Amino acid sequence: MLQFWFPVVFWFSLSNPIPASFESAFVLTVKMLEKVEGFDMERVIEEFERVTKDAERIQRETLKRILEDNASAEYLLNLGLNGRTDPESFKAFVPLVTHQDLEPYINRILDGDDSSVLTGKPITIMSLSSGTTQGKPKYVPWNDELFDTTLQIYYTSFAFRNREFPINNGKALGFIYSSKQFRTKGGVLAGTATTNVFRNPGFRHTMKSIQSPFCSPEEVIFGADFHQSLYCHLLCGLIFREEVRLVSSTFAHSIVYAFRTFEQVWEELCVDIKEGVLNSKITVPSVRTAMSKLLKPDPELANLIHKKCMGLSNWYGLIPELFPNVKYVQGIMTGSMEPYLKKLRHYAGELPLLTSDYGSSEGWIGTNVKPTVPPELATYTVLPQIGYFEFIPLRELEGAMGDTNFLCMDPKPVGLTDVKVGEEYEIVITNPAGLYRYRLGDVVRVMGFHNSAPEIKFVRRSSLLLTINIDKNTEQDLQLAVEAASQLLAEEKLEVVDYTSHIDLSKDPGHYVIFWEINGEASEEVLGGCCNCLDKSFVDAGYTSSRKVNCIGALELRVVRRGTFQKILEHSLTLGAAGSQFKTPRCVGPTNTKVLQILNENVVKNYLSTAFN
Ligand code: AMP
Repeated sequence: MLQFWFPVVFWFSLSNPIPASFESAFVLTVKMLEKVEGFDMERVIEEFERVTKDAERIQRETLKRILEDNASAEYLLNLGLNGRTDPESFKAFVPLVTHQDLEPYINRILDGDDSSVLTGKPITIMSLSSGTTQGKPKYVPWNDELFDTTLQIYYTSFAFRNREFPINNGKALGFIYSSKQFRTKGGVLAGTATTNVFRNPGFRHTMKSIQSPFCSPEEVIFGADFHQSLYCHLLCGLIFREEVRLVSSTFAHSIVYAFRTFEQVWEELCVDIKEGVLNSKITVPSVRTAMSKLLKPDPELANLIHKKCMGLSNWYGLIPELFPNVKYVQGIMTGSMEPYLKKLRHYAGELPLLTSDYGSSEGWIGTNVKPTVPPELATYTVLPQIGYFEFIPLRELEGAMGDTNFLCMDPKPVGLTDVKVGEEYEIVITNPAGLYRYRLGDVVRVMGFHNSAPEIKFVRRSSLLLTINIDKNTEQDLQLAVEAASQLLAEEKLEVVDYTSHIDLSKDPGHYVIFWEINGEASEEVLGGCCNCLDKSFVDAGYTSSRKVNCIGALELRVVRRGTFQKILEHSLTLGAAGSQFKTPRCVGPTNTKVLQILNENVVKNYLSTAFN
């Protein structure tokens, strides 16, 4: 889900910090937004301290509130809770579920059933999660209560961030994009979670009350064409370059993507600024109108930017060079975003990189209250008032089934305050929008506690990415292998732009395929070395032993044309994804035929590993 610099308006009420229902919290939020300008960081931090000190009680209260608000939901009525709201009964009566289990209910809502299916108050809006793993977006319920939890997360992390890096009423260059909202055949409104946040009246109101902190007008954020909006975001950033205090997006990928694009279009941007005329490739009328209000001929600025770009060495330090008053770069930078950190650091020069918060279309989980910690070491503190959280010990899953892929067993999750430092868990969430004991599919490690609330590190998606025989490799194993092999490329001053993987079973034995897009031409020798290094870097005993006896064939490295991963992004936009919510799938399954086709059509070279010959 989205993290962007959220405007500075204080919304917590200390006299009634946890309102009786999420609805009243939402109403309260909007009222506070209307009345209060200015942001009392210390009060937000005090509130955070209060709830984290009392995490167990707050969890009980949160569960009670969710169950009371939704007591009339058919789903809960059928489970026979009969008004019980304590965690013990909840666990006894309500099963752990996956998205697949809920699909019959979700499909009824999508088809127009406006009764209380999953929630007391019927769901009228759905979020489309990126569905990166399965290759097709998933629908999950959305409501105002989720918007409210979004604000709680944003304000908390903002308070901590702003304490360390005050931005003093500057502007944010936010690479944020709203996807299209559409109606399902049953009339339910659907869009990505980020889109649902942007389109919420509370969000618009917040924007208004602080005179929009983004450089870009709403028309650009809501523009119908991702590429045109990106171009205009860059242009707006340059126009307001002195005022830009932070550069952000939901996920780090979009920031890197934006500045890679800048490398291509910077001269066009300079021409637009010099002449005060928007490039004719921007065709969306509302975007043109909004931009024409901002764009005035400014040859001096155009010359300055031109000079700065010419003076850079391989675009190192581009962000602070363009935006002299920027304080930090912010977006989700952990998990599948880590591979982009190197490039982001290159663009950011000495600027701090701040990872945002941790959440999903299904709901928020944790907030980053230690903004000075580098993304590689970042943790997220779980907010006990935004949902009810359970944790399945990973050892239990692995011990019972031998792998972590098994969803049908009956694991025993522990509560938020019962987790142990150093242990890994799969997260289960209960949210105020109709998900009860929902297995999110993320694995986290507990790194410590803030008061009694755990500080967690995102580890990986729980499903195995690569498995053919007795081998087990996760997205993290793949990332480590790619990092090791790309060291060889770095020696030639080249880098992996993006990567993914696939299990090829078309011949016996099956083998791993790694797709790489590289930013230049590498020699045959180096690429052959990279391929062997990838193969050797999967150190899982199941893999190495299977490779030795040829139960798994030689790993194959397929190098794809420049721009292939952009095509994958474009394909995901056609499925309704928002540009800022895009995550490259790290493994492309056999059912994800379109993405597989894009990759295979763009292969320019392939190599087979000789590492086990
Ligand atoms: P979406 O499907 O677009 O809602 O994306 C949600 C998923 O993105 C989560 O389940 C995580 O796997 C991943 N994600 C979200 N926030 C973070 C984070 N801070 N660090 C790592 N991964 C994250």
